[in-house]
Formats: sequence, structure tokens, C-alpha cells
Amino acid sequence: MKKLLIIGAGPAGCMAAISAKTNHPHWEVVLIDKNTRICEKLRLSGGGRCNISANVSIETVIEQTPRNGRFLYATLQTMNPIHIQQFFAQRDLPLVEEDHKRLFPITHKADDVANVLLKELQLLNIKFLFNMHIQQIDLQNRLVKTADDILRFNHLIIASGGASYSNTGSDGLILQELKSNIEITPLYPAETPLVCQEALIQSKCLQGLSLQDVGLSLFIDGKRKKKVVHDLLFTHFGLSGPGPLQCSSVIGPAFEENKKVHVVIDCLPSVSIATLETMLHTMSLGEVLKHFKLPKRLIEGYELLSKDLSIVQFLKSWPIIVHDVRGFNQAFVTWGGVSVKEIDPKTLIIKKYPFVSVCGEAIDIHSHTGGFNITIAMSTGCHAGKFFTQ
Ligand SMILES: Cc1cc2nc3c(=O)[nH]c(=O)nc-3n(C[C@H](O)[C@H](O)[C@H](O)COP(=O)(O)OP(=O)(O)OC[C@H]3O[C@@H](n4cnc5c(N)ncnc54)[C@H](O)[C@@H]3O)c2cc1C
Repeated sequence: MKKLLIIGAGPAGCMAAISAKTNHPHWEVVLIDKNTRICEKLRLSGGGRCNISANVSIETVIEQTPRNGRFLYATLQTMNPIHIQQFFAQRDLPLVEEDHKRLFPITHKADDVANVLLKELQLLNIKFLFNMHIQQIDLQNRLVKTADDILRFNHLIIASGGASYSNTGSDGLILQELKSNIEITPLYPAETPLVCQEALIQSKCLQGLSLQDVGLSLFIDGKRKKKVVHDLLFTHFGLSGPGPLQCSSVIGPAFEENKKVHVVIDCLPSVSIATLETMLHTMSLGEVLKHFKLPKRLIEGYELLSKDLSIVQFLKSWPIIVHDVRGFNQAFVTWGGVSVKEIDPKTLIIKKYPFVSVCGEAIDIHSHTGGFNITIAMSTGCHAGKFFTQ
């Protein structure tokens, strides 16, 4: 019997195993993880509720994937948000939609998502090797090695995840191990808060203040790289919340390359400058804030900045320098991984090594928060499990 080894039992590896056994029933499928159970990171996801997907089209998943999103066209034919909804509904865990089209399991428990996957893996007689830390991959001889064991494979699927929240098992080390044979793009934290050291942030006068649906543009060396309308939270160190997180996902190596990064906040994205100017002829800043239901505390922020900015600039184009991003221990995903240049997008097989495939966050692809990362993990996992041949 031919043997398929899968390194990593996150959503990508689990879905790869399910798809592999379904499409290649005569192969022995072995799922390896250094943890003692499947899906440790998924169990934390969505604050323990697992924002598993989004009720959107394939095009939207690609749009919401700032890093190499177009690579996913083929995998999303195999598994997309509709298939994910069907998969879980057929296994008695329907998904329910919340704001921003986000999908959650009806029970609001990430553990229930993991349990559906586990049950399916057991039904298909997938073999588990838990507590097994793969340290070396010998591609020439088709072997994977731990400190004490050597396992032979006919085909290998790498589903080892990225490098964020390494306490969940995904630490990126296996990608470093592959570096001598396969191009691995450098790893950086993504979907992570922005660190700003400006006096306004240091003063903490806005700490804890959140703004709904504000415009945020991120500039690198003066060029706009991202524009979003989403929520924002001022923290003691900088900016957090979905808007800043989305902005962080285009920063990657910018700080290492000594580039200058700043964001511009538009507190009133649906109000024109001309309208605002007219209003300010007869209204104070406090009255304008009240009119647009913006928090009164913004006045404290403006008082600190008023030497440098007019009220219109403050409300429509308020610049804040970004000095860094929070690290892997606070990043939802990883920028970087197996370079997409190495992978055939139709099969997810490594071109140089046709007996190796890769899926999930181990690939140099990441999406925004909102259910897109688990979607692409499952989509690429399902695709990798379907299309291997040797
Ligand atoms: C706190 C948090 C919340 C999140 N919430 C959401 C959310 O709500 N919605 C969403 O879409 N995304 C969310 N994400 C992102 C999402 O969880 C990941 O993108 C997704 O889990 C990636 O799946 P994966 O299977 O590729 O990798 P992982 O889930 O990281 O799984 C990889 C597995 O490989 C194993 N492994 C790694 N190296 C080895 C080795 N050498 N030997 C053996 N095993 C190894 C690890 O132990 C791990 O179990 C969140 C991330 C975090 C950190």
C-alpha cells in the first residue's frame, strides 16, 4: 500500500487527509502532529467560536487575500465557502452568518468544528501520529525524521502552518528545514496590531477608544498600499482592530528595509471635505462629533494635535506614523512561507519534487481576518489531498 504522510493536523492537514482518503482510498493516509490532538490553533480561533469561513463568492475570498490571492483560483473550485457550509451542515454542524458575512458553527464552539473533522478522519481510518515532532525532511530518499524515528513516504503533504502563536505547534521551523531545497520567502507577522510611538498614542488619552467603519489608508514610503473601511481601536501601544490588522498585512519586510510607514485615518469616510467645511462654519468640533455619532473623547486627541492639523484634516486625513507591528505572538497569520513560484497552482504539488505537496498557511499566502484564513487552509488542504498522483 502506498503511503501518504501529512505533516500538520490543523484545518489544512485534516482536510487534506479527508480528501486524500476519499479520492485515493487505496493509499494509507497518516496524519502527523507534534501536539496531542488535532487543530490546536483552530480551537482558539474567533475567540474560541471559530470564524470558520465567510458567506462570500470565490472572487471576494481572493480580494480578501492580499498576499498571492490569485494563486487560489483552482483550489477554490475544489473547496470554497459554499462547500465548507455544505460539509459541516451534512455533518450536523450548520454554520450561521454574522456581521461582515462571517460564518460560525451554530454552537459557537471551535471545539465542535475540530470534533467534526476528527470524527470524519476516524470514519475514514486515517492513522494519527500525535506527539511526533518532525525535525528533518530528506527529500532525496523520501523520508521524514524525528529525534528517534524515521518514516518513509510515497507522497508527502506539508501542512505545518505558519509561525504565529507558536504555542499552538506551528513555529515555522519545518519551513526553515526545507529552505535548502525549496524557496521559502521570509516570514513576518501579519494581521497584527500596529505599533505607533507618537506623543498622542504615548499620552494614552485615546486608549480604549474605538471608532466604527472609519477609512484607513496605509502608506509605505509615501505610496498607498492599502485602503480599508473598518473598525479601529486605540490601544496603549498603537492601533488595533480589524482595520489596522488589515493594514498590517501589506507591511511584510518594510521595516527591515528601513521604509517609512504611516496610516491616514478618515473618521468620516462617507462625508466630503466640502460638506464638513460648510458644517464647521456654524458648528464646533464637539457638535460635529455629536452629529456624526463620533465619540466625544476625540476632542482630547485633537487638542494634542491642533498645532499641526486643522479640524478638517483631523477628521478627514489624520496621519499617524507606524513604527512597527506586534510580533508573531499577537499575529493572526504569517506573511511568507513556501514560495508560490515553487508550486503548481493546479495541483499544489512542488514542481521540483512531484512527490511533495503543500497546503494551508505553510504557503506564502495569507488573507484578512473574517474567516478567510481557515477557508483557504481547508480549500488548499482539500485540493492537495485530491490531486497528488505519486
Ligand atoms: C488567535 C488566532 C485566532 C484566529 N482566528 C481565526 C478565525 O476566526 N478565522 C480564520 O479564518 N482564521 C483565524 N486564524 C488563522 C487560522 O487559525 C490559521 O490561518 C489556520 O489555522 C491555518 O491552518 P493550517 O492548517 O495551515 O495551520 P495550523 O492550524 O497552524 O496547523 C499546523 C499544524 O502543524 C503542526 N506542526 C508544525 N510543525 C510541525 C512539525 N515539525 N512536526 C509535527 N507537527 C508540526 C502544528 O502543531 C499544527 O498543529 C486565527 C489565528 C490565531 C493565531
